[in-house]
Amino acid sequence: MQLSPRLTNLNGGGSDGWEVFNLARQRIAAGETITELTIGEHDIRTDPSILAAMGASARGGHTGYASVPGIPALRDAVAARISQQSGVPTTRDNVLITPGGQAGLFMAHHAACTEGARALFIDPYYATYPGTIRGVGAVPVPVKARPEDGFQPRAEAIDALAEGAASLLINSPNNPTGAVYDRATLEGIAEVCRKHDLWLISDEVYDTQVWDGAHLSPRALPGMAERTLVVGSMSKSHAMTGSRCGWIVGPAEAIAHLIALATVTTYGVPGFVQDAALFALGAGLEEQIAAPFRRRRALARDILARQNTVGLIPSGGAMYLMLDIRATGLDGRAFAYALLEHEKIAVMPGESFGQAASGHIRVAMTVADDAFAAALERLCAFAATRAAA
Ligand code: PLP
Repeated sequence: MQLSPRLTNLNGGGSDGWEVFNLARQRIAAGETITELTIGEHDIRTDPSILAAMGASARGGHTGYASVPGIPALRDAVAARISQQSGVPTTRDNVLITPGGQAGLFMAHHAACTEGARALFIDPYYATYPGTIRGVGAVPVPVKARPEDGFQPRAEAIDALAEGAASLLINSPNNPTGAVYDRATLEGIAEVCRKHDLWLISDEVYDTQVWDGAHLSPRALPGMAERTLVVGSMSKSHAMTGSRCGWIVGPAEAIAHLIALATVTTYGVPGFVQDAALFALGAGLEEQIAAPFRRRRALARDILARQNTVGLIPSGGAMYLMLDIRATGLDGRAFAYALLEHEKIAVMPGESFGQAASGHIRVAMTVADDAFAAALERLCAFAATRAAA
């Protein structure tokens, strides 16, 4: 039987970018010791107090169908969090609870894009972006950000591709680059969106991992609340990756239609997960959960400052560092394979996240401080030998 091209072309026919990760996992399974600096998953698990709230809710009977838009108390809590963070008045009618940020990204593109519409996104990008856009029948259009700009996208580059497009997807704090878009970058983006009448889909799942200053949401900029769909999640802020709980915040009319989409797709998020998320949002754990990444980023800056082969893309947030290894003469993929071979350290090639990050590698700060610092020292020493060869 014929399968729909919308399904079979989801990944665009290319590599999925996870080859180095998969090879490292195979070797670990075969008994080798490898330091994995690859995936965006905390090295701690969900806090026991959140699990206790989840268990109490389930045992208390919240195991049936839950309200499809989200339980009112959680929608209110998300609205309060976003109002407080951004200053934009936000109520429960602006909030849809989703099974994680990824479902939110898919649903937001469904809301913004008609069949065949061009949907812009910034390269380097989180691996699912092009597939998410193809999944709603739209056409992914990458806009390259440059290493010399610290991977802050330029408004002119977006503007040049924006004519007739339906949406622009941005992500700050950014995976994979660790960049946090500054106010001028966000204002430039907002101007392009207003000029070309674009929906802005703002992926803010790392909003609690900002190393200097406060998180800035483009929804707060003039004229943006009516055209912005913010995607958020409990995954990164509360180490709840497996619980699958996130949200879309946007105009009430868009949310009303998205509730209809949720009804025909996910049919909501389990009630006991939502009760756990509600507890977690009130528990004040965000700083504690972000603290290991803040510490490791400081360790990394010290280590990288003592050498001059590996460059650090200015790191403003999220649990990743983007390292420039072009001085070694290798591209990101060749460097990652060689590093795995010689040093038993697994990192992600920049090329796994698009063309713009070629010659770079992404390091996830997701192992204990000592192991992280030791691995980074070895990575730098390895790069220096390669550069000298
Ligand atoms: N957006 C970005 C930039 C991510 O890095 C991730 C996960 O790594 C997600 C969205 C999806 O997160 P989740 O679906 O777990 O909320």
